[in-house]
Amino acid sequence: MSDNSDNTKNQISIFWFRRDLRLEDNAALSEALRNGQPVLPIFIFDTDIIDELPPNDPRLGFIHSSLEIINQKLLAYGSSLHIFKGKPLAVFEKLLTEYTVKNLFFNRDYEPYALKRDYDVAHLLSAQDVQIKSAKDQVIFEPNEILKADGNPYIVYTPFKKMWLAKMADTALEVFTIPNSPNFVKDPVPFPTLVELGMEKSDLPVYSVDYSVIDSYDENRDFPDKDGTSYLGPHLRFGTVSVRSLVPDLVNKGSGHAVFLSELIWREFFMHIMYYFPKVVHQNFRSKYDGIQWRNNTDDFEKWCTGNTGYPIVDAGMRQLNKTGYMHNRVRMVTAGFLCKHLLIDWRWGEAYFAQKLMDYDLSANNGNWQWAAGTGCDAAPYFRIFNPTEQVKKFDSQLKYIQKWVPELNSLSYQPMVEHKMARLRALDVYKSGILH
Ligand code: FAD
Repeated sequence: MSDNSDNTKNQISIFWFRRDLRLEDNAALSEALRNGQPVLPIFIFDTDIIDELPPNDPRLGFIHSSLEIINQKLLAYGSSLHIFKGKPLAVFEKLLTEYTVKNLFFNRDYEPYALKRDYDVAHLLSAQDVQIKSAKDQVIFEPNEILKADGNPYIVYTPFKKMWLAKMADTALEVFTIPNSPNFVKDPVPFPTLVELGMEKSDLPVYSVDYSVIDSYDENRDFPDKDGTSYLGPHLRFGTVSVRSLVPDLVNKGSGHAVFLSELIWREFFMHIMYYFPKVVHQNFRSKYDGIQWRNNTDDFEKWCTGNTGYPIVDAGMRQLNKTGYMHNRVRMVTAGFLCKHLLIDWRWGEAYFAQKLMDYDLSANNGNWQWAAGTGCDAAPYFRIFNPTEQVKKFDSQLKYIQKWVPELNSLSYQPMVEHKMARLRALDVYKSGILH
């Protein structure tokens, strides 16, 4: 408990929630609660990020309801979450005037914006003698933990995965608990509503997580009409589920579990890539593709965004995205490939559209997968591999169950492809080939 003598009065540690919106198995929070000073739990709606979003962005609602769950639990400890809206530096400047802050605890984030933000905050607080204590939480292995023998990062997934699994075999994952009587600052403050924060509720659903799919994940995950995937995306993105809590049950189990684990490793692989090659945020991973002459036709882009391409699987996917904030992975691959290859629209346009719409939007996963689809990324599909959307339907939605749900006008005469596949394929091959820089 805190020491009440005058010189230590109001001395606190701050725990800053970011992509780790849970009390359970939260590495830096657990450490903060064992450190001595009472812990002030805070969350900042960062205006540098949210000013770019509409007030009813469903991700804001998801964050808000996740914070509300945390707050309810904190109330049971006589504490509460302190929520701020503003620029992180300004929020911390204010906190420094109100408290004697001894420590700042947070879990590390590896995206370029977050690294710079955390550097600036650490710089500000260190100058006031605040100890900065960060922990690994959103990944199993951080970028510097999985490197090639020569010390360079992996840029190909398969050897990365092999190294990841080998390391995992020698690793006992910790579970970070909360002490029985956790030492939180006990001055509960009211929890702001969405409206008080200048935001609005969205009508979009949050798909429920389903762990039971993992057993037969390998058989079902590619078929968009089967509910064969977990819907963990937003939970891993915002940390309402700890990735550490998933992995032990996946290692050395059946093939469904192994394939599911591979997807979690893809997640980590793209985080590592973004960390070591931050240029990918704006540029091709492979600069030899910088010469591609994208057509970037805005009418075509509009048809793609609204799901009016006349290719049923592309339209179904885009409409699912627009209506629900989710799109099945197989269909993400087809729609992304279609935009880049059939329409020759710069992958960055599609990436930005997905970033606006996806409930599980994650910079590194979105970027890595878009560059994969465009053929410009690390370990990407070769540019000459061009999905035929009609063949994809035969393979993955042969009964048209998924498509019929989203494209009711499928059999009407006016429903026609906006571009002919054979022509578009040859055009893409030609444009890519002549765009390659030697
Ligand atoms: P499941 O199939 O149940 O997989 C479990 C978890 O593994 C996912 O929640 C995710 O965290 C991770 N995962 C699965 N596949 C991938 C993958 N290919 N790359 C990285 N991580 C993966 N995933 C995102 O989390 N955010 C994105 O912004 C995103 N954008 C994408 C854009 C494109 C063009 C493509 C082709 C894929 C994208 N993905 C993205 C990957 C994948 O489509 C989603 O993770 C998955 O569909 C989410 O549904 P789920 O939670 O049911 O996944």
